[in-house]
Amino acid sequence: EIPADTADARPGLIGRLFGRGTKPAEVRRILDDTMLESLEELLIQADMGVDTALRVAANLAEGRMGKKLSVREIKEILAAEIARIMEPVAKPMPLYAKRPQVVLVVGVNGSGKTTTIGKLASQFRAAGKKVVIAAGDTFRAAAVEQLQVWGDRAGVPVMTAPEGSDPASLAFDAMTKAQADGADLLMIDTAGRLQNRQDLMEELAKIVRVIRKKDPEAPHNTLLVLDATTGQNALTQVDIFRKIADVSGLVMTKLDGTAKGGVLVALADRFGLPIHAIGVGETIDDLSPFDPEDFARALVG
Ligand code: GDP
Repeated sequence: EIPADTADARPGLIGRLFGRGTKPAEVRRILDDTMLESLEELLIQADMGVDTALRVAANLAEGRMGKKLSVREIKEILAAEIARIMEPVAKPMPLYAKRPQVVLVVGVNGSGKTTTIGKLASQFRAAGKKVVIAAGDTFRAAAVEQLQVWGDRAGVPVMTAPEGSDPASLAFDAMTKAQADGADLLMIDTAGRLQNRQDLMEELAKIVRVIRKKDPEAPHNTLLVLDATTGQNALTQVDIFRKIADVSGLVMTKLDGTAKGGVLVALADRFGLPIHAIGVGETIDDLSPFDPEDFARALVG
């Protein structure tokens, strides 16, 4: 049962379809072309991407044109459609027997890489894993400091190098330490200066080359961190990062704010990359598994 939300200052997607002030849940309207178009528009506005939005609307319309539908019914149908798209990509980050499992974390500055590494490190540690973090964004002293703060919070050692030093060399040292310590996981933060794509590409390639000297299968995961508030930009970021790194999974941050992350539907549809977790706040416990049904319900509102 999906609760009605007229009292909400920000009506969800479907609340807006019927206008505010109505008794929403049981009001029925005939599904005609006009209503279908409004619905398509709302889905597109929600960042789901044109193709996905049209298909979801078409699935809803199938066999229902000219029939009376309530807000509650529309919400339920849409949420089910969206959840169905999202289910195949809702997968936690796989853990391998390999020690150390190397997790490279990429994404543009500000997306929440540092925070996500801290949260993940804390979760892995709580699960009994021995974790080492490498502060690979050696160009931003503030980023290194911030990661150290998160490492302290999580109770996980953070390997750092002087500002401006070679991230690949740090990654190599971190790999050596992680192996010597018998660590289960090595998480490597990276720079996110997308304005200099060529440099970034070379930097990431070098990190990968160097850690493969120690383990030819590393990195075992390459996580791309995306900020839900950037909307459609997330699609471009996935496009770009897939070209410069072998992205194996996504984490979407800042889903606790006004952003409902509709772009995740477009991402799931277009790339099919697993969504390992979502960021739902700024504290260490604010990282949740991605739940397709909760997500779909929150999105339709
Ligand atoms: P980085 O530059 O990619 O390492 O990004 P940071 O980890 O430093 O995060 C940038 C900002 O986003 C910080 O102020 C974080 O507190 C904030 N942030 C990260 N994840 C979340 C989240 O899931 N929810 C909220 N509300 N804020 C987040």
